[in-house]
Amino acid sequence: MTTVIKGGTVITATETMQANVLIDGGKVVAIAQGSAQTWAEGAERVIDATGKYVVPGAVDVHTHFELPFGGTFVSDSFESGTRAAAHGGTTTIIDFAVQTKGEPMRAGFDTWMAKAEGNCAIDYGFHMIMSDVNDDSLKEMGALVEDGVTTFKLFMAYPGVLYSTDGEIFRAMQQAAEDGSMIMMHAENGIAIDVLREQAIARGETDPKYHTITRPPATESEAVHRSLALAEVAGAPLYVVHMSAKEGVAELTLARDRGQNAFGETCPHYLHLSVEDDIDVPGFEGAKYVCSTPIRFRSEGHQEALWDALIRGDLQIVSTDHADFFYDDDEEMGRQKRLGEGDFTLIPNGLPGVEERFQVMYQEGVIGGRFNLNRWIEMCCTAPAKMMGLYPQKGTIAVGSDADIVVYDPATSFVYGVDTIHGNIDYTAYDGLEITGKVDTVLSRGNVIVENDTYIGTKGHGQYLKRGMNQYLV
Ligand SMILES: [Zn+2]
Repeated sequence: MTTVIKGGTVITATETMQANVLIDGGKVVAIAQGSAQTWAEGAERVIDATGKYVVPGAVDVHTHFELPFGGTFVSDSFESGTRAAAHGGTTTIIDFAVQTKGEPMRAGFDTWMAKAEGNCAIDYGFHMIMSDVNDDSLKEMGALVEDGVTTFKLFMAYPGVLYSTDGEIFRAMQQAAEDGSMIMMHAENGIAIDVLREQAIARGETDPKYHTITRPPATESEAVHRSLALAEVAGAPLYVVHMSAKEGVAELTLARDRGQNAFGETCPHYLHLSVEDDIDVPGFEGAKYVCSTPIRFRSEGHQEALWDALIRGDLQIVSTDHADFFYDDDEEMGRQKRLGEGDFTLIPNGLPGVEERFQVMYQEGVIGGRFNLNRWIEMCCTAPAKMMGLYPQKGTIAVGSDADIVVYDPATSFVYGVDTIHGNIDYTAYDGLEITGKVDTVLSRGNVIVENDTYIGTKGHGQYLKRGMNQYLV
């Protein structure tokens, strides 16, 4: 039984064409002009995409569902989070399995596989957070690669929790180079930041804005530089997550110009929010947007630098780092963001975005006149799939690709607000932002999972994705 998407404009990272798409067995089997009539005969379903864009399902390579953090848990489960993603046109996520200190990485991987299994609306993969770097965990890296975990995340921040020393980072990089995997880096100088945080609290500086002030741009760019140098010596590829400081992007750009296998992502909230407009505001509202790396000062010019880097390709990917916590106490989740009232160091770090990313990037990138439709698809779908070893199964519309497809209606519009989002959360970072265009129909492996603003998929439809290596490596 087949599905036909007819009459739309098919947009990939490289093409814009009037074409019909034929889907069979969950895969794209043909893309052609003029065949829709024949295809429609006997088709199980015909989707009329006249006047609409037919684009690949978006790929978000950085989410955290059901993650324990700061004495609470991320409010979105794999079920609610992947449904929210689907509503926003995202059909693949890569989440982070976490190694518990003192336990094998494999146990952490199994735990996160169990959390996701049978609950996801869309397909999913995992990166592995290494909490211990030692002989045992280094040996485990290769075996996890065999199971499709080709990326290992380390932290230069959060001393005493997830932090790794330079020596540990270097050893993991050497191992990654040997195994053909990639290190993902949370690049912030956590040792210096912890000193600044203690000093701020001692001075009575407890408001949310001090979260940013105690993580100045140089604490990010120093760590970006250091991790790039370590990766260069180790001969390992490096992917720097959630970059927000222009000085850090400059370091990455220099390394790329030297020919290093170095890559970076930023997130829509760094492009959209600022301390001036969103964090340094009356009351405790700014806590909604406390995350690390932090939202930065608009006046320092980080947003322009991030946009420029995305346009030039020095940053390749926009992901979300989705990790949401209720602003107001929630019946089920309890006290979350408000844990940090009176002490910004206790605010759980993170914010929602898995639903909003694809459409915010359309609005602020394409409608905003910064780049064209193909580039939008490249940074939200194709580059993430290639970077994480999922292309061309994911991230494009091509014969043989999974039929993860979004029919996008450029002629509709809506406004983001707590009533127009679908995750388990009580706010959006894009409150009041009008999107000129809207996700209309979403298919995951040929199954319609969202139409008419309604999730109609089956719980557990989402399958685990065994990933290959970064396909950009030279
Ligand atoms: Zn993260």
